[in-house]
Amino acid sequence: MPATSREWHLVARPHGVPALADFALREIEVPEPGPGQILVRNLYLSVDPYMRGRMNDVKSYVPPFQLDRPMDGGAVGRVVASNAEGIAVGDHVLHGLGWREYALVGAAHAVKIDPAPAPLSTYLGVLGMPGLTAYAGLLRVAEFAEGDTVFVSGAAGAVGSQVGQIAKLKGAARVIGSAGSDEKVKLLVEEYGFDAAFNYKSGPVAEQLGQAAPDGIDVYFDNVGGDHLEAAISALNLHGRAALCGMIAQYNATEPPPGPRNLALAIGKRLTLRGFLVSDHHDLRPQFIEEVGGWIREGRLRYYETFVEGIENNVDAFLGMLRGDNIGKMVVTLPE
Ligand code: NAP
Repeated sequence: MPATSREWHLVARPHGVPALADFALREIEVPEPGPGQILVRNLYLSVDPYMRGRMNDVKSYVPPFQLDRPMDGGAVGRVVASNAEGIAVGDHVLHGLGWREYALVGAAHAVKIDPAPAPLSTYLGVLGMPGLTAYAGLLRVAEFAEGDTVFVSGAAGAVGSQVGQIAKLKGAARVIGSAGSDEKVKLLVEEYGFDAAFNYKSGPVAEQLGQAAPDGIDVYFDNVGGDHLEAAISALNLHGRAALCGMIAQYNATEPPPGPRNLALAIGKRLTLRGFLVSDHHDLRPQFIEEVGGWIREGRLRYYETFVEGIENNVDAFLGMLRGDNIGKMVVTLPE
């Protein structure tokens, strides 16, 4: 076992798009596990959009990262030392202490995972938090019903690609997605089976959505906010529902963004616009694992992962994900 481990610290609060200088990779001594603790060699680290919010010193649903302290986030690793009942050396676990090579984890905060049915990295993506977000957000929050026309933004990402496919599998009349490149748009239609897709950088979202959904939409799954939300409010049919999952278009904003200018339409159309957090829907997890796991095994639900190698590239992977470099889930891989 090496004597030292590297971990990322936030050293300055970003203003706008984060810069490499806002982060520092620091070396610490590898600690020994105390009673009830395990030492984990991290193998896969998650980078997620919500982490951008944690870099700001504001009150939110998760506390901000502290300056000059290790950052954290979803991670999967192998147990290399254990002082906890029920978890043995060699077990694989999912836990919340990413952004580092070795993690000292309280056993109560680690979940044993099985590498046999699915690759370990999928516990951070299609079978993990983003997957459950898609499942709960579409089926419970947006109250999806067979025959609905569904629009999802951020459609080639971890959450969005799953939303569109679940809608198709559950009998949507039509599924439309938007993404930030022609390559992603092609993927949505040809690989994921969306009925229509458009590149939001190629023209106004409202116009492109109007062409893709001439009869309007019943459900909007919002990953982006801004002009996407405004276009969706205009396109939603009577009693339409929007699940407000994320608004990544404004995560790096330095000024408060304008609200949708057409919100008054929600009254006459009796729209439901409902925000949600995946953490409120963990009761759906067993059902989600069974149903989505089954679709993956049967080859009916596809997923992509974009891997970036090495702890030294953790920040690059995060910034790349915010820029749209990823197809599907962005994951950092560390050597065994
Ligand atoms: P992701 O979609 O895999 O990656 C982020 C994607 O956002 C990028 O690939 C990029 O794709 C897109 N993007 C970046 N800037 C954009 C902009 N200005 N306009 C439009 N698209 C932009 O990330 P994810 O993990 O699946 O998360 C998707 C959304 O769900 C995020 O908003 C996140 O905050 C939210 N989320 C919410 C919950 C919850 O509990 N509510 C849980 C998980 C995630 P393009 O190339 O298409 O631009």
